[in-house]
Order: sequence, then structure tokens, then C-alpha cells
Amino acid sequence: MPFRKLVAGYEDFHDAYFRSGNPVYEQLSSMGQKPEVLVIGCSDSRIDPAILTNSQPGDIFVIRNVAAIVPPCESDSRHHGTSAAIEFAVRQLQVKHIIVLAHSQCGGIAALLSGSADNGEETSFIHNWLATLEPARDRIEREFADEPQEIRTRAMEQAGLLVSLDNLMTFPWVAEAVESGALSLHGWYFDIRSGELQSYDGDSKTFRDVLGADALPVEELEKGCCRRGCQSEQL
Ligand SMILES: [Zn+2]
Repeated sequence: MPFRKLVAGYEDFHDAYFRSGNPVYEQLSSMGQKPEVLVIGCSDSRIDPAILTNSQPGDIFVIRNVAAIVPPCESDSRHHGTSAAIEFAVRQLQVKHIIVLAHSQCGGIAALLSGSADNGEETSFIHNWLATLEPARDRIEREFADEPQEIRTRAMEQAGLLVSLDNLMTFPWVAEAVESGALSLHGWYFDIRSGELQSYDGDSKTFRDVLGADALPVEELEKGCCRRGCQSEQL
């Protein structure tokens, strides 16, 4: 996409949301944001959570990073951008749902599997970032050693998503909100080629089409919403 198309795109956006009299930004400006959902997705240009879910301004709070990774809670003086944004979403915005959104053909996961990010340069950050998933990678490489590369890669993309869900629970305020029923965690996996969106089912430990009637942990969702006095039944 040529850079100048961004300016033309902004003009279209401005027409649609400001010149047209659409009140959405005026309302969001005067009332502030109150998104109910945090989406943690990959920086990949093909996986925009707002486009994928047809969300409107103010609907979802979004964090994007390489491979949609949630690092473990680490109390040190280093710079934890993803952790800070999760903290803001959970403690200040009090989101009711967190979705970790992984996807097929993920360049970060491919780099993890190939080892290509480990270039030894002190000013390279990707290798250290991906290292969170190395134990899962070692397990996948053992368990899927005889499978085709495509199968092994998908297994790693989905295993990384589960690591991130586990890591979310290492943040004390996330664990507390989940245990109180105020917050639900979800693992979604988007297939770029087919367009299918799957949701992780913790009971069967499988990924199911998100449009399926039993794809969402409904009981957990309802419990979380009811305890917060929320009127919505689903996302
Ligand atoms: Zn990716």
C-alpha cells in the first residue's frame, strides 16, 4: 500500500466519522473509553483485531506484539510494555474478557521454530522476546517430530497461545479477577487462508469454530457477566 493512500484513507475516515455527523467520537470524547474486551494480537499486518471482529471505535482495547505473546509477570525494573497495557486494561478499564489472538503463518512463530531470530546481536530483541515460548517449542518439536512442517507449525502457534493464557494467570490482579468471576480468558486462532476463527475449549482441550454453539465457555462468560451486573450474554 503506497504511503499516500494512508492520507486518502484518513480523509475517508474523517468524512465517515466527523463530517457526516456520526456522534461516536464525540460520545467517546466526552464519556471516555469503556471497552469490555482486551484483545492481545500479533503485529502481523494481516491480523487486525478490529477488522476481524467488525468492531467500532471504543469497542476493544488492543495490544499487538510479535507473535501475540503474553510474557510472565516479572517484577523488575525493565520495560514491560505488554504487561503495562494488560495492567491498564484489567485494573483501570476493568475489561470483562481477554482474548489472546494467535494466527496461522505467524512470522514470529516461524522464527522461533527455525532459530532465525537468534543472530547474537546485542541490539536485536526478537530472540529474547520469543524465548518465552522455548519450552513449548521444545515439547512441540518432540511430540510432532514426525509430522509435516505445516502441522508442526500450527501446533506451535496454538501452543504459544496456551502459554500466553497461562502467563496471564501469573499476574495477580488477572488471577484475582478470573477467580472472582469478573474476568474471562479466551484463546482464539485465526487461519489466514481459510478465514476460519477458532476458540480454545478448555474442557476438550481442542480448538473449535468460534461460530459453533458450544465454542465459547458460555458458563464462564455468563458467570463473569452476571457477577459484574453486565447485561450482555456474550462478546
Ligand atoms: Zn504473527
